[in-house]
Amino acid sequence: MPLNLILMGPPGAGKGTQASRLAARLRVPAISTGEMLREEVKRGSVLGREAKGAMDRGALVPDALIVAIIEARLQREDCARGFILDGFPRTVTQAEALDRALQRFGWSLHRVGSLNVPSDEVVRRLSGRRTCRDCGAPYHVELEPPRRDDTCDACGGALLQRDDDHESVIAARLEVYARDTAPLLDYYRDRGLLAEIDGRGKHDDVLAALLARLNLQTSGPTLAAS
Ligand code: ADP
Ligand code: ZN
Repeated sequence: MPLNLILMGPPGAGKGTQASRLAARLRVPAISTGEMLREEVKRGSVLGREAKGAMDRGALVPDALIVAIIEARLQREDCARGFILDGFPRTVTQAEALDRALQRFGWSLHRVGSLNVPSDEVVRRLSGRRTCRDCGAPYHVELEPPRRDDTCDACGGALLQRDDDHESVIAARLEVYARDTAPLLDYYRDRGLLAEIDGRGKHDDVLAALLARLNLQTSGPTLAAS
């Protein structure tokens, strides 16, 4: 049975960072709908042009659009052993669509992790966040500054701020999270799938807590779901 996980949490909770780390440990892909959409915007595709307006406002793109993207993505070969979803589902409608898709594929959800971070901390994290234009490495102007201003330590690329990490848009994203996405916590809690994790510690500690709470025991280099 593939290892299918969802990582939830407000914007800035560290979903992307932890999803990549978990993915490396579990050898399954981390799938970020936000990243996929930003790629489409960068490429200037039809999809990107459709999504950009909503993203720049901090609003959600339409459910039907994102559900179609995810259904196609989950059918790619690299998902055969499982996947970690970051940023999807974000509404109850999306969660229901995911349930139906998984059922069609004969799969089920293993666990849903939710990273809890209070909103003042989230605002601090998001407003200082920078990302390397070339390799995508994450930085923070105060918490994880690069050695040279605005320059990636790893590849020398320029560090950019996401359009939606400007203060005015951050507030809108937090409202959307509280209104549309937070109700999903109950949706998964009711199914006995939810594990809530404190997202405030160091990256390594949060990862360790995630592995424990998602019932993923590491035994040496191999890893088994229980
Ligand atoms: P964050 O979690 O930090 O807010 P993401 O990178 O996950 O950021 O998403 C960025 C933007 O992409 C969202 O504000 C929204 O406009 C769009 N988006 C991403 N995933 C979804 C989704 N599942 N449903 C609707 N919109 C989405
Ligand atoms: Zn870089």
